[in-house]
Amino acid sequence: MAERRIAVVPHTHWDREWYEPFQRFRFALVEMLDELLDLLESDPSFTHFLLDGQVAVIDDYLAIRPENEGRLRALTATDRLSIGPWYVLMDEFLVSAETIVRDLQMGIERGSDFGGIMEVGYLPDMFGHVAQMPQILAQAGFVDAVVWRGVPSTIEHTGFEWVAPDGSSVRAEYLPLGYGNGAVLSEDAKDLLVRVRDQEAELEGFLLGDLLLMNGSDHLRAQRSLGRVLTEVNELQDDLHLEISSLPAYLKTAPRHELARWVGELRSGARANLLMGVASNRVDVKRAVARAERTLERRAEPLAALFLPESSYPERFFNLAWRQMVLNAAHDSVCACSVDEVVDQVLVRAAEARQIGEGIIERSTKSLASSMARAGIYLLNPVARSRSGLFEAVILGDELDERRVQVLSERLGLPGSIVLDSTTVKTVLAMLQSPKVDDDAWVQGAVISDEEDGVHLTVTIGPDENPEVDLVAAKAELSTALNARPEAPVFVQLDQPRTRRILARAQDVPGFGWRAFEPVELVHPAEARDDGSVVLDNGLVRVEVDPANGSFSLDGVAGFGRLVDGGDLGDSYNYSPPANDCVVDQPIAVSVTLLEKGPVRASAAITAIYLWPDHVDGGSQRRLGQHEVTVTTTICVLADDALVRVETSFVNPARDHRVRVHHPLGEHAQASRAECAFTIVERGLEAEGRPEELGLPTFPSRRFVQAGRLTVIHEGLHEYELVDLDESGARTLAMTVLRSTGMLSRLGMTSRPMPAGPLTPVPGLQLVGQEITARYALGLGVVDPYAAADDVLVPLEVVVSLGGGSRGTAGSALEVSGAEVSSVTRRNGHLEVRLFNPTDRACSVRLPGRAGWSVDLRGRPLLPFEGELSLRAQQFATLRFSTEP
Ligand SMILES: [Zn+2]
Repeated sequence: MAERRIAVVPHTHWDREWYEPFQRFRFALVEMLDELLDLLESDPSFTHFLLDGQVAVIDDYLAIRPENEGRLRALTATDRLSIGPWYVLMDEFLVSAETIVRDLQMGIERGSDFGGIMEVGYLPDMFGHVAQMPQILAQAGFVDAVVWRGVPSTIEHTGFEWVAPDGSSVRAEYLPLGYGNGAVLSEDAKDLLVRVRDQEAELEGFLLGDLLLMNGSDHLRAQRSLGRVLTEVNELQDDLHLEISSLPAYLKTAPRHELARWVGELRSGARANLLMGVASNRVDVKRAVARAERTLERRAEPLAALFLPESSYPERFFNLAWRQMVLNAAHDSVCACSVDEVVDQVLVRAAEARQIGEGIIERSTKSLASSMARAGIYLLNPVARSRSGLFEAVILGDELDERRVQVLSERLGLPGSIVLDSTTVKTVLAMLQSPKVDDDAWVQGAVISDEEDGVHLTVTIGPDENPEVDLVAAKAELSTALNARPEAPVFVQLDQPRTRRILARAQDVPGFGWRAFEPVELVHPAEARDDGSVVLDNGLVRVEVDPANGSFSLDGVAGFGRLVDGGDLGDSYNYSPPANDCVVDQPIAVSVTLLEKGPVRASAAITAIYLWPDHVDGGSQRRLGQHEVTVTTTICVLADDALVRVETSFVNPARDHRVRVHHPLGEHAQASRAECAFTIVERGLEAEGRPEELGLPTFPSRRFVQAGRLTVIHEGLHEYELVDLDESGARTLAMTVLRSTGMLSRLGMTSRPMPAGPLTPVPGLQLVGQEITARYALGLGVVDPYAAADDVLVPLEVVVSLGGGSRGTAGSALEVSGAEVSSVTRRNGHLEVRLFNPTDRACSVRLPGRAGWSVDLRGRPLLPFEGELSLRAQQFATLRFSTEP
């Protein structure tokens, strides 16, 4: 019998924050690394340690032990310590494709300071894996991945070929028993030998050759006597050879041919928990993270890259923002399967990233404004498609074409004068901190004159946000005048014309471009009427509200927006209905109010009152108590738009429950198609599971999901499930609006009997007293979901210019068509654009006037392009421009 090698890879799995907040876990990290450095330096038989695939722990440590940087470098340089490739071990489904890419790039870049990262796509604990991960890894030069969760039952060996939708692949090393299959090894050689033989027997059918023994687990320290005990085991027998190894060394000899193939995402619970319920806990976190992603990726980066002078590209601000996003991406962070103090920090990081993005957007739009030749209102389109859209603006004067614009609010002109004493004027002055008087009005100018009868002050107020007014100087000048003549009356003349805030549809604005404001003629004006029931109609889509139950129909298909509330005795990881569940899906009262009658936007509010139980009693498994809850749903139909916008909100009164909104599919469906990183994934009606974790077919959707004739575009990641199954398929899509549970992990759940983490009560998971809002748009029939997602989630920006520059009234800063744009950034002085082709056909991308190189995720040039290039089906590509027109 040939000798079998047992590759023992000492490691730790370091969740930076989870059942303890980051700052608490860091004490243990510092202790673990202090000890590890001593151990590696003093014991040459301890040849290698894997530092969990994430570079963040190095920075976390060095912030406390900067003096040990040289020791760390020495160990990484001699390959005693593996770091990276990731900056953090992210969740792949709950963050954007860009976040995954930036995480990898941050890890590679920071790792290069320590002699380079481990060249293995190590993905030990992610709650499943996205379809395009093999392509992401391949584009960073990896040929190997290491995975555990999500691998389906058809994979029966420790190695398989994992293929992305574009055809690129990596060899996946599968850990059927997880990343801790060799944790806490006995220090007694005989005991250890028994354990190894047991494991060998357990995995016998799976093994392709050597046995990989991952010697470590969550927050564990290195085992000091490992070198000695392995030597002793080797001396005891001669059919097994145990050695301390590394993943790259182990994989060097791993079989690579005739492996089973798997194409696409890994979301099976066949042998390990997938924990699919993390997609629906803490819905506020999912929305906050998505909002920050959208602010950075869809607005701040393209606007700064294209409209700020190259020299003032705020790279360090972006680095700060992305650092917050990447730290949040860690699987226990974004998944919110953590204590409340962790979730609080996730929300703060998301807010900081968004705030940085908003500051950059403001500066970029101001830069564009100052570059326009003519003064006026402009619309700025931050996405690649040329498109129209609604916008709001404040305009002056009486001339209005009421067939094109809708007046939202009006401020009457208030010319006139008042006489005040100087003390009153000083008090008012003290309160005036900026030229902004209210939402729609700014001080445009102030003139002070000293006359015989008193001090005269003329203030002009108008709709333009005018940065030219020096309010501080004007205040100082007025104070001087008032102090000189404290008894003199002050004659205040207010010059304020009539202004109106209007809503209109814009002419098409070029992709990544601008156009002067001009309301377009409405081909399909929206109208609202109440003839017994409320109807919103624009000739493209017709909504009729059912006053009996508060749901509504789309083009005659009834039952949209039906709210279904049921019990949930699960935890942060998994939904689990109580044994004696009761479901509330009928309101006790409904009222419908017309809000806006068109022609640009017609809208109505449905107010429905439900009686929701208070909580689930753990003993009886019944829902007890009762709350009256008011759910408000606003529905909008826009002129010339077939999508219906919906916003549903309520203050959550109850615990231990799940609220879903149901929408009919318009026809039976066998599958759904939802957005995921760089692609759309198709999923069937079932999910693979096992008794230890039932295979619930609840799936995450990033911005849109389609099934049957239905498209839902939604703000923030949502969980969905196709329900109402019969022999022809599913008839309804259920989208989770809220999942309230009070436990990080629980024991004895029907959907997952064994715990998935500590049994810690986490009150914040209940979201009691929080306002819950779901915003989404619905379409029936053919919808381009990427275009619709931009229309719904990334509106045109309104820019007010005073003129004085050289830009014309319309134009584009970057023309790109033929593929989806994932990002537009500047890196090292070059404009970089990442594109992807989510279709199953090759596509041709046009980039008029642009040339450069496609580069891999490490920035290494691949192929030159000039004006155009082609992408294979499902490919993504990063282009570095060398020419700027
Ligand atoms: Zn983990």
